[in-house]
Amino acid sequence: MHLPPYYSPDSASLYLHIPFCRKACHYCNFHFSTQTSYQDEMIQAIVAELTLRKDEMKNKCITTIYFGGGTPSVMTSNQLTQILETINSHYSVATDVEITFEANPDDLSHDYLSMLHRVGVNRLSIGLQSFHEKELIWMNRSHSADQSIAILDILESDFDFDYSADLIFGIPGSSLQDWEDNLNTLSRYRAPHISCYNLTVEPGTALYQNTQSGKNVPLTDEVQSRLYILTHQYLTSKKYDHYEISNYAQEGKFSKHNTGYWFGNHYIGIGPGAHSYNGTSRSWNVANNALYLTSLSEQHLPKEQEMLSMSNQYNERIMVGLRTKWGVDSRTLNLNATQSEFVKELSATDKAILSNDRIILTEEGRLQSDSISAQLFLEE
Ligand code: SF4
Repeated sequence: MHLPPYYSPDSASLYLHIPFCRKACHYCNFHFSTQTSYQDEMIQAIVAELTLRKDEMKNKCITTIYFGGGTPSVMTSNQLTQILETINSHYSVATDVEITFEANPDDLSHDYLSMLHRVGVNRLSIGLQSFHEKELIWMNRSHSADQSIAILDILESDFDFDYSADLIFGIPGSSLQDWEDNLNTLSRYRAPHISCYNLTVEPGTALYQNTQSGKNVPLTDEVQSRLYILTHQYLTSKKYDHYEISNYAQEGKFSKHNTGYWFGNHYIGIGPGAHSYNGTSRSWNVANNALYLTSLSEQHLPKEQEMLSMSNQYNERIMVGLRTKWGVDSRTLNLNATQSEFVKELSATDKAILSNDRIILTEEGRLQSDSISAQLFLEE
């Protein structure tokens, strides 16, 4: 089992958080505002933060840049160009840098895609979520199923972007067949990468309130598991590599950016609410647009920081690694007798494969990856 070639101590990543959305999706707990009148001001602040932090990774080469949010596709060509020019003038950027841009179908058009291509974006992550209109309405998405189909048609016929098609499964009231229909629709396209996220109920969201009040009844764990297994069987039968719990890729089409995160790449997160990691500490920007703007207007970085203890780092490596097809290197673990027995039991019950000193969860094991990881954690 070869490890992904996306981690190097000499490389680093940049994440740009664009904190605006056209509508608030009912399930979403990311940081964003639907008030977009001060978008220009925000882009200036992001440019200022990029400039202020230009020396943080000065000995490293930026190999991936990721525009997330929020909704980066609310940006104009000028705004995106300003950010990219700032990066190129203050950071050392690899010639084959992966630049991923999250976009919603209603923002995309032939012209917008041409602009993205022109400025150097080479990978898209498209928030399709579903091809069923009723599910999109239930989620409070800003786009329609027809808009998704239209943009996939344009992408396939006129562009050669790498792209990830992002879907959500586990919508209450939807059947296994509804989900399979979504996969069938997507399979008409070449989609180099597919992310399938299981709907989760996050505190602070409209979905959370509806669940608390009994208006929303989540699917049972058993149905969620069946949906997960169906997805795995369907997409692997189409030759997608199931390389992380929620992620599938055609050969060589892994997300370099996300794979870098999982294997310890250092990264700088720019924008309100963005997180950064430098190998020993994690920091995060204030998740409040007004405070972020004020702070940057005073040339002050609005971030807090925590040093990561050895056990923090060790536990995170287990948790993240076990979600991937590469697993974790057992030689780097410090398992006590009970934990070693537990690992043997995982293998005996087909929840894990022990191969070439790696512990790799099977599909059945991945269904319980959080609880399995917790049993292998190092105590403080
Ligand atoms: S899911 Fe995406 S588009 Fe919807 S509110 Fe969250 S960040 Fe915005």
